[in-house]
Amino acid sequence: MKLLTVIGARPQFVKAAMVSRALRARPNVHEVLVHTGQHFDETMSGVFFEELGLPRPDYDLGVNGGSHGAMTGRMLVALDPLYEAERPDWTLVYGDTNSTLAGALASAKMGVPVAHVEAGMRSFDRAMPEEINRVVTDRLSTLFLAATETAVQQLLREGVADSAIHRVGDVMYDAVRALGAAAEARAAILPRLGVAAGSFILATVHRAANTDDDACLRHIWQALGAAAHATPVVVPLHPRTRAALERAGLPAAGRGPFIVIEPVGYLDMLVLERNARLVVTDSGGVQKEAFFFGVPCLTLRAETEWTELVASGWNRLVPPTDEARIQTAIADALAAGRPDSRPEFFGDGHAAERIVDVLTAQRRAS
Ligand code: UDP
Repeated sequence: MKLLTVIGARPQFVKAAMVSRALRARPNVHEVLVHTGQHFDETMSGVFFEELGLPRPDYDLGVNGGSHGAMTGRMLVALDPLYEAERPDWTLVYGDTNSTLAGALASAKMGVPVAHVEAGMRSFDRAMPEEINRVVTDRLSTLFLAATETAVQQLLREGVADSAIHRVGDVMYDAVRALGAAAEARAAILPRLGVAAGSFILATVHRAANTDDDACLRHIWQALGAAAHATPVVVPLHPRTRAALERAGLPAAGRGPFIVIEPVGYLDMLVLERNARLVVTDSGGVQKEAFFFGVPCLTLRAETEWTELVASGWNRLVPPTDEARIQTAIADALAAGRPDSRPEFFGDGHAAERIVDVLTAQRRAS
């Protein structure tokens, strides 16, 4: 069985590393790994391949930058000949980026069935580029590898056949379980940043809705700066956010307890998440990882795909429309602390094995 995996963005390296490892342990399964190039430098790509043991890509398309249309189009142009050359049995795509959409679209047009990891996630906000990517990818998919029961129910509501949906759990949980111990050895990042375990806020911001709107970015940035007077704030800065801050004339380097750093590698990120008192983010993956570590989270959005986290009290939503509102939400979240129980919404840490089981069973069935 030949599988072609298309990845290109930071969260996909984390997810694909777990599945790739499980795939390559099986006999008669050959994975062709394609990196679109969407995220390409050492901090956003290279370090993840190293730390997560992701094999070197068989193809690097080197496509990055430009508008959504230009980027996706260039990926399609590069993928077509590759399908002609490789003729895979399946394509595996992850999540909701332009790389996901391009992989699914190129594959479906070539008549190669698509398996979608994290199928069925919805924010119901079509202004969000990721939502368009998810919805279209699911329309093009044959196999739906759902992380949560909420995703399963959504796919059923959209008319997907029950037999095509598999609730496998969340591969990001697999990654945290697999690399948590290795991350322990990296605790040096805390003294290096001058923060103590359990005493700081970890913040990440990179969603287009928050970075492309100067007013929104200003509200978030000022609220985080104000919060840092009472509780140090550590911000590993996404390159898109750095560029947006510079455009908006906001300081991209923090002062004193407002600690703004380059994006960190995965192991350092796990250490920061596990030791934070509160996580403030607009990232999908970081919302979940906070929960895996039992750290409360405040999400800088009006909605989230991971609704179980809100319903269970682990995550709170604050639309970043005004600085005072964000400040109050941060203070409330710090005061509230942790809920009592942490249900297994995301499976048991063996999602990757289940994904490979489902894929290899397809081969036998076909
Ligand atoms: N991450 C990281 N270093 C950072 C910020 C995030 O390793 O400086 C990891 C994080 O732990 C998670 C993934 O990147 O595994 C989330 O990616 P991102 O927030 O870019 O995307 P999203 O999950 O929102 O799609």
